[in-house]
Amino acid sequence: MRCSHCGQTNESYVTLCVGCGRPLAPAPQAARTGPVDPGYSTVEQGRGSTILFFGILSIILAGLILGIPAWIMARRDLKKMRAGTMSMDERRATLTGMVFGIIGILLNPVLWGLSLALFMKATPQL
Ligand SMILES: [Zn+2]
Repeated sequence: MRCSHCGQTNESYVTLCVGCGRPLAPAPQAARTGPVDPGYSTVEQGRGSTILFFGILSIILAGLILGIPAWIMARRDLKKMRAGTMSMDERRATLTGMVFGIIGILLNPVLWGLSLALFMKATPQL
């Protein structure tokens, strides 16, 4: 690229001008900060963090309420990832969230059963 200070022509990989030593202004590359690449927008962004969050919550409080949506969302997203219409970035979080969701679903009736049993025990028979 051509130096804006002294006019020296530099190779594209140098960051300091060979002629005057001043930093070369980054050329039109700065357009990278603009909106997302058009080619990238066709790929749907994953919802891994949401699914993971649901999965964790499903274990600690509400297995059936959050575990089922986490499971369904994860299955749908993993299918899209296999088909290549969704970004693979959050695949691991999606998988983990799905596993947590399933654990939450399985664990929840046990927890409910236990607390119900304790409640029945603590309540005097009428
Ligand atoms: Zn220069």
